[in-house]
Amino acid sequence: MSETRQNEKPILGKVIISGILHCETGLHIGASKENLEIGAIDSPVVRDPITREPYIPGSSLKGKMRSLLEKVLALSPNRNGGTQRNPIWRHECDMKEEAKKCKLCRLFGSTGKSGGGNWPARLIVRDAFLTDNSRENLQEIDTGLLYTEWKWENSLDRVTAAANPRQLERVPRGTEFRFEIVYTVEDLDDLNEDLENIDTALKLLEMDYLGGHGSRGYGQIKLRDLKWQIVTIKNGEIKGSLEKENFKEIINTLKTEDNNV
Ligand SMILES: [Zn+2]
Repeated sequence: MSETRQNEKPILGKVIISGILHCETGLHIGASKENLEIGAIDSPVVRDPITREPYIPGSSLKGKMRSLLEKVLALSPNRNGGTQRNPIWRHECDMKEEAKKCKLCRLFGSTGKSGGGNWPARLIVRDAFLTDNSRENLQEIDTGLLYTEWKWENSLDRVTAAANPRQLERVPRGTEFRFEIVYTVEDLDDLNEDLENIDTALKLLEMDYLGGHGSRGYGQIKLRDLKWQIVTIKNGEIKGSLEKENFKEIINTLKTEDNNV
């Protein structure tokens, strides 16, 4: 007898949430230190290796949405995502059966522990790239850096109280990125709640910050021109799509048409 895979569900549809991410203040999403050139700025922003343009990695956006939603859902942190010296506690279900029922893990995914099995995320957060307008605008300002600016920031050494000035590179305020999030519809019973939680995470993001140095005012963002599009799939075939300005309109349309995703 051939072994069948458990928990394989047909995909019923996709919800594509797209829009513009507008930087209300300077944005700093740091690049890894390994890529630093000698004599370069102390703390550079992450850039696309091909175009050299700054961008927002989907993983940064997804990680931030996850941590904000985790706090609102009041889930108890059980995993250390940091080190022993600098622990960063977060919630992640150990068993995939739990993850399916967990409002956070079923969206963002979980890695099982002690044979608990992984739960694949229902949410894909794509990398966000500069809009054409922003690229043109940034080409015109001359800061000596490509598409960015830099700023001296002082930090105090906690032991000696000595000032430790360093250069921070940031994407200037007013810059816009095009973002897209894709949610996979696997279970109609979860649809409303999942979309509501994605909506909450996006609203929380606007009240929080993205990237580093948020307490200094960096990374305040606004989401503009938000569109919620649902693509319906039946028996493995794409059936159609409809676009609305918020997820509630999508749910209402699905209910009144009674055509189940
Ligand atoms: Zn969970």
